[in-house]
Amino acid sequence: MARTVLVTGGNRGIGLAIAQAFAKQGDRVAVTHRGSGAPDGLFGVECDITDSAAVDAAFAEVEKELGPVEVLVANAGITDDTLLLRMSEEQFTRVLDTNLTGSFRVAKRASSKMLRAKWGRIIFISSVVGLYGGPGQVNYAASKAGLVGMARSITRELGSRNITANVVAPGFIDTEMTDVLSDTRKAEILKSIPAGRLAAPDEVAQAVVFLAGDGAAYISGAVVPVDGGLGMGH
Ligand code: NDP
Repeated sequence: MARTVLVTGGNRGIGLAIAQAFAKQGDRVAVTHRGSGAPDGLFGVECDITDSAAVDAAFAEVEKELGPVEVLVANAGITDDTLLLRMSEEQFTRVLDTNLTGSFRVAKRASSKMLRAKWGRIIFISSVVGLYGGPGQVNYAASKAGLVGMARSITRELGSRNITANVVAPGFIDTEMTDVLSDTRKAEILKSIPAGRLAAPDEVAQAVVFLAGDGAAYISGAVVPVDGGLGMGH
């Protein structure tokens, strides 16, 4: 059965791969962007997830065109890395406001319609760094770890209404976010990944599509790693 799917930050990177995977299986897919427009074949809505009014307007537009959002993928995220002693409070709160509060804003907006429909899937894109930690990533890791508590609390609140909330924790994925890493840092990272390689964005998308499907109805509050073994045990 075709569903209405909204992927935040679905205009590029991992979000785009997720949006394309849902579109390929015949779902109605909307993506948010911040002015770049929508990729071919996807319905785009302009939205900055740090702005509640913009989030509300984007959902209203999707609802009008494609119907209520049944599958929400909270994927939009940023990094602003630096060591703890050099990190300004502004750098900390800006990353939290996008990655964690932004996910809260979209999950809250989606959940009222999911409750009415008595069906919904919420998938948060976290990171291996959320539970493993990362030097220079106090802000980013805190924001990504927070998504685990959020998904598990939503599971406890809405689990009896056929609504699941899960976390996908990617390791190192080949996108613009990892392009900025130096070759030395990339070589160091590769040494610690049992799979010995970075992943393609579509390998994250496949896990997300699975969690959104009927076969995953009894999986909620889970943290699903897509990290080639990097974060094992965390
Ligand atoms: P990219 O940097 O390639 O893309 C980030 C996306 O988030 C873009 O679509 C961007 O929109 C959007 N975005 C950022 N801030 C906002 C905002 N305030 N409002 C709306 N949209 C926003 O990142 P990736 O594709 O690599 O990452 C996607 C997700 O996966 C992120 O949450 C990231 O933390 C996570 N992740 C990535 C990993 C990796 O190795 N790449 C590993 C683990 C997790 P715009 O185009 O307008 O800038």
